[in-house]
Amino acid sequence: MALKDFFKNRQLKRAAKLHQKQGSATAGNISELKAKSAIDDALLCSLWTKCQGCNELLYTSELKKNLSVCKKCNFHHRLTAHERIEQLIDYGTFVEINDDVLPSDPLNFTDLKSYKERLKDAQQLSGVSEAIITGIGNINNQLVSIGAMEFQFIGGSMGSVVGERITRLAEYSTEKKLPLIIISSSGGARMHEGILSLMQMAKTASALKRLHEEKLLYISILTEPTFGGVTASFAMLGDLIIAEPEARIGFAGRRVIEETIRQKLPKDFQTAEYLMENGQIDMVIQRQTLKQIVSDLIRLHTQNIKKKRFSNNGSDKTIFEKILARL
Ligand SMILES: [Zn+2]
Repeated sequence: MALKDFFKNRQLKRAAKLHQKQGSATAGNISELKAKSAIDDALLCSLWTKCQGCNELLYTSELKKNLSVCKKCNFHHRLTAHERIEQLIDYGTFVEINDDVLPSDPLNFTDLKSYKERLKDAQQLSGVSEAIITGIGNINNQLVSIGAMEFQFIGGSMGSVVGERITRLAEYSTEKKLPLIIISSSGGARMHEGILSLMQMAKTASALKRLHEEKLLYISILTEPTFGGVTASFAMLGDLIIAEPEARIGFAGRRVIEETIRQKLPKDFQTAEYLMENGQIDMVIQRQTLKQIVSDLIRLHTQNIKKKRFSNNGSDKTIFEKILARL
């Protein structure tokens, strides 16, 4: 018996006994009890979370305190875009930008249901208007541009709005000389927008190239899962590419590759650790240390840039000393 069923049965038995004692077991009472048990059921489900790594029942508030990482097996549970931002950005400093860029249905696409309906459902389910949130905020008092993808929104797929928001974010970073951080979690390009989704790969890559030419830092954080057109564009273009433990990262899925090449792939194929071993990413970092490491990397980069500018301008030494003193 599942733990929640055990609690539910116990509550029903206790309530029925109480009514028997009071001699008040009417049809009204029974329906009231049933309604109450439905509420309790929902409450119990929110109190406990089943670990997807070790199947243990974990106390939800304890799990949240540990940044949604299981203390028993170290499984990193999937986070929403808002949770990602909360964990990385200093409290109260995040300001969302580009939230006025909203999705539409340019191809009038319909499969089992219309794309318009899917968008509406996804917005209701996830509580965000598109599969990415972009904005600016502080990481340990250092201002950065940040984008976090929302997997609950049609599998975090990249449509024209995701591409546009990332492009605008990269352009904003370039203009304001800010480090850029993008946290990816996506199944790939969004098929409901056809070629318009695929175009976003080139568009985001071009915006990131301009950021790179300005020698600004771009840190890409890959989380479970990152696939398809997202991996094939902005997610793999970071100056530093960081991944969470055991995150699955790839282009095509494992089954498709196995069927195409007719070979069995290694067990850990397409995991963050496998990619790290084969030199495709730079670091695999535990969620608990992610903020501090990202913050240190930004500080290191900023300091080096300051030093470079300082040494390249020997004649303006005193001016630079004054500027540096103010920073
Ligand atoms: Zn676990």
